[in-house]
Order: sequence, then structure tokens, then C-alpha cells
Amino acid sequence: MEILNRLRGMKDILPKEVDLWKKIESVFIETSELFGFKEIRIPIMENKFLFERGIGANTDIVMKEMYEFKDKKGREIALRPEGTASVVRAYIENKIYNVDKISRLYYYGPMFRYDRPQKGRYRQFYQFGVEILGGRHPYFDGEVIQILDISFKKLEIENYIFLVNSLGCEICKVKYIKEIKEYLIFKVSSLCNDCKIRADKNPLRIFDCKNLSCQDVIKDAPSIIEFLCDNCKHHFDILIDFLSKFNIQFKIKPTLVRGLDYYTKTVFEVFVEKENTAIAGGGRYDNLVKEIGGPDIPAVGFAAGIDRIVPLIKNKDIERKEAIRFIFLGERAKMKGIEIMKKFVEEKIIVDADYEERSLSEHLRIANKLGKKWCIILGDNEIEKDIILLKNMENGFQIELNVKEAITKIKEIIKC
Ligand code: AMP
Repeated sequence: MEILNRLRGMKDILPKEVDLWKKIESVFIETSELFGFKEIRIPIMENKFLFERGIGANTDIVMKEMYEFKDKKGREIALRPEGTASVVRAYIENKIYNVDKISRLYYYGPMFRYDRPQKGRYRQFYQFGVEILGGRHPYFDGEVIQILDISFKKLEIENYIFLVNSLGCEICKVKYIKEIKEYLIFKVSSLCNDCKIRADKNPLRIFDCKNLSCQDVIKDAPSIIEFLCDNCKHHFDILIDFLSKFNIQFKIKPTLVRGLDYYTKTVFEVFVEKENTAIAGGGRYDNLVKEIGGPDIPAVGFAAGIDRIVPLIKNKDIERKEAIRFIFLGERAKMKGIEIMKKFVEEKIIVDADYEERSLSEHLRIANKLGKKWCIILGDNEIEKDIILLKNMENGFQIELNVKEAITKIKEIIKC
């Protein structure tokens, strides 16, 4: 029969890879929790208009990449392309701002973008993200960057750098956009079709266009940093001092705008030059809570792309406790053995069995092939004597253990 393969841009994370994923997830969780963050779990599906309003109707993510459909009642649904809009929606809907003046939240899970799949770009990918809602000071921006930096150091990721920029507030943005529009007046014909529209509607998006001719046009554009108002400039300077104080490797990149419209002031990306890949991105979004219908509350956060971090981990060998293989010889042994197995599990000792009828030598051959270090053998003989036989598969050592004492003895011998 024909195999129905996975969809394009989707991937299976196989059992042998999952430990590495879990390690990365746990480093991010542990670091965030040390900074007082709490987990929030948000739905995978949302009202499509949440993302239109939140991320921006003119962004590639919303215009081209969103998985959208109508549900059975005709409601417009989208699979979440990112986490921030959902976290903000949940923050407003559940009035979390009434509980804490400053909310530190983290989330983890799959995101969906209908982009052209290639190395490091999938249609379902995993993001770990944090958001600080209610924090106005640049120290909060520094804090989220520091969480990333500490996590990447713990994971021994090499040669990454934070690219940082400021997009200013509404006041400086208006001045800058006017300047950019003037800069583009005689260059519009060299832009791609999308950017020709963006030049008028949302010229900052041109910085984010992957088209080489657009990148060429925009590379000599005036820098937004020169247009920052005093308040935004002060905010940016403090952040730069923060990064320097903690020896965080960074570079100011005045063309960095990020692919989502909600950013104000700080934006950043973590870039690994050798791999030519961004492994995380984020920034401040002081207007989003209000734009989605909540109170006027500033915020900052990041999202890290776990799929792109996995291949960068050098030490992929993660110590894993192997299951002790139970070998049963005969039906009576199985009935007795399953009781013993349950006791082992209650003591947190990992066990497995295949329950097949085979000779002992065949069982041992299979256990060997599976790389089992320890087997427990149970046949009529052992049941009569109320014992089990523990066998070391590497050196052949075997020992009879009284069933009652077996768990204590095995814990001593195997150190499991
Ligand atoms: P963004 O949500 O676009 O700010 O992206 C944040 C991070 O998510 C990026 O730096 C990537 O590491 C990761 N990411 C974004 N899109 C994809 C994708 N299509 N496939 C894999 N990772 C992605």
C-alpha cells in the first residue's frame, strides 16, 4: 500500500533525537525560571485577525505564509505563525495585568509558516519564547537578551553574535519613514514588485526583503539610529551599556528591522555567521497590547528557533539510562515477571520486555543486538526458587537474586 508521507516542510523528530531537543528546551526553561519567568500555554489555533492586527497585514508572514482556513461554522482561523500575539491576547483576555504589574512569561511549541522549505526553514518549527509585559526600562530588554546569552553559553553554541538596532517610537519612526521615502523616490524601479508597494505603504519592510536587488537599493539608506528621539536614544544607549557590561557579543546593525510590524525601539537577532543563520530574534513592542485591545502596557521578548539550534550542539551524546531487558521463558514466568516489572517501575527502574516465545539463547542474541547492558532472566527454575537471574551482557557475569531483595541489590550493582 502507498505510504502517506509527511507534508512538505514538516519533520518527524525521532526518538534518538528527542533527548537533544529536551536538553535544549530544559536549558531555556531553567534559565528563564531562574529569572522569575512562568510558563504560559497558548492555543495552536487563533482567530486569523489576531495575527493581522498583531503582526501586521503587510508583513510576509501574514500576507503569504499563514496557514488559514475556515472552521465548520465559517470562522476565519489561522495556525499560529509565532507566539507573541497569542501570549498578548491571553494576557489581555485573562487580565493578567491585574495580578502582576510586571509579567514574565515563557512559552514553547510548534509554529506554522507556509514558507519555501529549505535547510533550517520548515513549515512547522519550534520556538521557545519569553515575554516581559509591563516593563518599560531598557534593563528589561537587556534581561531577555541575557537569558538567550546564558542559554547559548550553557548549550556551548559557538560564534554567535547579537545584532541589535532600535526602530524608535512613533515620533522618530514618522521622521525616519519620511526620510526613507525620499531616499527611495528615484530607486523604486529597482525594487521587486512587493517592495514597490511597500515603498509607499510600509517602507521599513524593504529592509527585510530577501530579494538581492532590494537589498542593494536599501544598503546605503540613512540609518534609523540618527533619527532617534532623546528618549529612544537614551533607551538604546543603556541597552548597549548593559550588553557591554556583561560581555555579550553584539554588533549594531542599523538595517535590522525584523519581519514583524509590532516592534518599537529595540530589535535584535542572534546570528551565527558560519552557518549564515539566525537562531533567535526579538525586541520591544510597546504598542502591541493596546493595538490588540488591551491597556497601554509596554513589552519586550524573544523567540528562539529550536530547529536551528539542534544542529549547532557539538556534544550530541546525551547520557540515557537503558532499560533492563526482562526475558521470560514460558507463560508462568511472564505472569510472575510482569508483577516484578511493575515493582521495578514503581522504584523508577526502567524496564522492557518483548513477551515473545523464544529460546534463551535467541532472547540473549536479540538483547545483545539491541545493545542491552543488563537482562533479567526468569523461567520455571527461577520461579521454583523465588529468584531472578541478573545477567551483565558485556562480560557475561550473572548472579541469582532473591526476588524480595532484587530491587535493592540491583540498585547497588547497576547504580540505576
Ligand atoms: P521570528 O518569529 O521570525 O522572529 O523568528 C525567530 C526565530 O525563529 C528565528 O531566528 C529562527 O531561528 C526561527 N524561525 C523562524 N522561522 C522559521 C522557520 N520557518 N523554520 C525554522 N525556524 C524558524
